[in-house]
Amino acid sequence: MTTFPNITLRLPDWISELAQAGARYPSIEERMRFVIALAATNVERNTGGPFGAAVFEADTGILVAPGVNIVEAGRCSLAHAEAMALMVAQQAVGTYDLGATHLPKLELVTSSQPCIQCWGNVWWSGIQRLITGTSVEQTQKFGGFDEGPIPPNWADILRNRTPKERAVEVIEHVLAEEACVVLKRYTEKNGVVY
Ligand SMILES: [Zn+2]
Repeated sequence: MTTFPNITLRLPDWISELAQAGARYPSIEERMRFVIALAATNVERNTGGPFGAAVFEADTGILVAPGVNIVEAGRCSLAHAEAMALMVAQQAVGTYDLGATHLPKLELVTSSQPCIQCWGNVWWSGIQRLITGTSVEQTQKFGGFDEGPIPPNWADILRNRTPKERAVEVIEHVLAEEACVVLKRYTEKNGVVY
């Protein structure tokens, strides 16, 4: 009988040095600085692409789950930073639906605007707010990454989602210049582009 592999995706060991569950990041800028630090560390430690993301409780800034890109190490094209943060958050809160009514309002903060895959992941995750750093244009220009055929009005599609309680608030271009520095650093190091 043929058996197939199980799937295990592991965040790098250094994550616990930077991220503690329950740590509090009061402002949106502090949350963005944290995910940019995740992206920068991922590049410096050679553990993946120049992208970081995290799920927070939107009202308190309490960290629920960090994520970094582990596409290469995980041998998984799905393992983008946003997807990792969402998956770890879903395990942490014990449900696939991050918009479940018994949960506090949850947000995803990501150092770069979601690619077409992560845009879809945001749609299905139940996350209620999305905060992004670099634009797709910056990610392509400074990192050379293909973000896929994401529609130009991708943010409005999330904002105008119905029913209204499934709509996603979107805040763009937070500390984008700082996030671009990590993309440039990855390019300087000749990191793998996919
Ligand atoms: Zn993605």
